[in-house]
Amino acid sequence: MNIALIAHDRKKDIIINFAIAYKHILEEHRIVATGTTGKLIQEATGLSIHRVQSGPLGGDQQIGAEIANNNMDLVIFLRDPLTAQPHEPDILALLRLCDVYKIPVATNIATAEILIRAMEKGEFHWREIINK
Ligand code: PGA
Repeated sequence: MNIALIAHDRKKDIIINFAIAYKHILEEHRIVATGTTGKLIQEATGLSIHRVQSGPLGGDQQIGAEIANNNMDLVIFLRDPLTAQPHEPDILALLRLCDVYKIPVATNIATAEILIRAMEKGEFHWREIINK
C-alpha cells in the first residue's frame, strides 16, 4: 500500500509520535511525505520515506498527482485549522482528489488512529480490488 503523511507545523509533533507508535505497520508500506514532515519522521523513526516538496512549495500537489494516478491508498493529513496556510488552495485540492478517487483520508489524529488500525487488521481489501 501507498501511504501519504503530511502535517502542518503545529501538528508535526503529533505525526512524529504517530509514526513512532505505528512504525511496525508503516515499515511494511511505501510512505510518501511532504518535505519537512518526511524529514522529521525519518529522523525520529529511521523509516525510509519518499519525500516530495514541502507543502507550500507544491508537495500537496505532488501527492495529489499520485492519487490521480491511482498510486495512493491512504492519506494522513494532520491539518491545523487555526492557522492560515499560504497553500490553502493546494490543501483543498488534495482533499478534493481524495473524495474524487475515494481515498481514505484522515485530517486529525483521531481518524488517523482508526484508519491505521483498520489497515493493520487487513480491512483495506477493497483498495486492493480497485488496484487489480
Ligand atoms: P511540510 O509541508 O511537511 O514540508 O512542512 C506540510 C505543509 O505544511 O503543508
